[in-house]
Amino acid sequence: MRAVQLTEIGKALAQADIPIPEIGSSDVLIRVAAAGICHSDAHYRAGISKIEHLPLTLGHEIAGCVDEVGSDVTQFSVGDRVCVHYLVHCGNCESCVRGLEQFCRSGQMIGKHRDGGYAEFIKVPGANAFLLPESIPFEVGAIMMCSSATALHALNKARFKAGESIAIFGFGGLGFSALQLARAFDCGDVYVVEINPAKLASAAKMGAIAIDAKAADPVEQIKEATAGRGVDVALELIGSAKTMRQAILCLGLLGRAALVGLTAESMSIHPYTELINKEVEIIGISDHLATELPALIELARSVKLRFPPETLRVVDLDAAQINAALDALQDSIDHVRTVIKVASDA
Ligand SMILES: [Zn+2]
Ligand SMILES: [Zn+2]
Repeated sequence: MRAVQLTEIGKALAQADIPIPEIGSSDVLIRVAAAGICHSDAHYRAGISKIEHLPLTLGHEIAGCVDEVGSDVTQFSVGDRVCVHYLVHCGNCESCVRGLEQFCRSGQMIGKHRDGGYAEFIKVPGANAFLLPESIPFEVGAIMMCSSATALHALNKARFKAGESIAIFGFGGLGFSALQLARAFDCGDVYVVEINPAKLASAAKMGAIAIDAKAADPVEQIKEATAGRGVDVALELIGSAKTMRQAILCLGLLGRAALVGLTAESMSIHPYTELINKEVEIIGISDHLATELPALIELARSVKLRFPPETLRVVDLDAAQINAALDALQDSIDHVRTVIKVASDA
């Protein structure tokens, strides 16, 4: 089958011709229809996130049709439309038993620790496949399994509920989903903090209150807009100590800051005046859970979460086109997500 692989760290991905994977009894073989190109893939290619085994087929945002079903898999039939949960977990360790598979001791990320979806076929455990309703295009099924799923997990972890206000720091793929998901929760006012004019305009167009962090201190702006109260929940999606601190400081009484962005920087907080006085909480967010995906798929089916055609760009399963998309991701300025549409030969 055709695949596009990382063969050397720091080098362009290469076209490859590799065998169709052989499935085990608990696996399904999926004929890939769409695979999202993610910012993490650019990190893997550049060597920013460590890859242990090469060559590796990248791609962790996957949707397609079941092509073959392992003998122990009862919930799928050949031809079913599915999307894929990217974390393969053991199901037996202490974390998995507690339903916290993102901490599985032997957890493997598809497209990082094992071959991913930049290929005509992929094998995954049956437990990692989720039925994709007919009305959701494969492209959407693929890309929502990463940033949208994590945005939903962040809202869940922050115990976000109807009527609450929210500040979203960063309006890339995560923020774009988070705004729509917050709406699906019947939120109050939504503030989007950004420095990029195009993203601020797009947030405003989607009904959010755009906060230009370049114009003035975003914390002051949010405080002013909320008559000094602050917001109930803040999501930090950028990954900088500065914006993490701002996300905490813009909270009102009993506010929750969910930190999603990654950074190696440290941050200082005044426990008494900035946390204790207001009983605010700082919550770390890592990935998402398989149990959250049915609700996410339902939100996409009911069109509360949507990716209009102008937000999607399609490329072929072609190394040159994929490398160009990865190059563009490194300095992305809009919401356009690139999806590989895998043409089927059969
Ligand atoms: Zn991703
Ligand atoms: Zn486990």
